[in-house]
Amino acid sequence: MTSNIITEVAPQYEPCIDMKTQCMRDLDFKELRRKYDNLGFRCCGTLFTPAKYSQFRGQHIKSQKHIRFIEIENEKYKQEYGSFSDPADIIQQQRRELKLLKIEISTLNKKLIDSQASQETLKAINNDLRSTNIELEFKIKNIKSKRKNLKPVPCANLITFD
Ligand SMILES: [Zn+2]
Repeated sequence: MTSNIITEVAPQYEPCIDMKTQCMRDLDFKELRRKYDNLGFRCCGTLFTPAKYSQFRGQHIKSQKHIRFIEIENEKYKQEYGSFSDPADIIQQQRRELKLLKIEISTLNKKLIDSQASQETLKAINNDLRSTNIELEFKIKNIKSKRKNLKPVPCANLITFD
């Protein structure tokens, strides 16, 4: 039962960036405890509960499968942030991302303003309809009261001849 709960919530293991080498490196034991605490984590398809953190450090990170995983993570990082050796590439990439985010924010703001404007239009139409409704109600009341005052027409011949 407990392991089922851990299986459901255990996050995917994420190596961290070594700022000196600009490469991915594995977390040490303390970092594992700090980051994954009692949750455990999954790596290369295996669940590592807190009891297996030392096994992870001692054996798993030396396995071919894990070494390949780190290589792939390095490639992903490289593609996203450019060359490891040049911090300027990282800054350049982040500027590009920032620019895209600004464009996205501006588009969303425009949509918001447009929707607010159409809300205002709808409010104005609603107000017009409300006053038209009031006018019509008043006219209907008038017609009803006039109808009450009408006297029934006698059945006799209304046209008289002298
Ligand atoms: Zn692994």
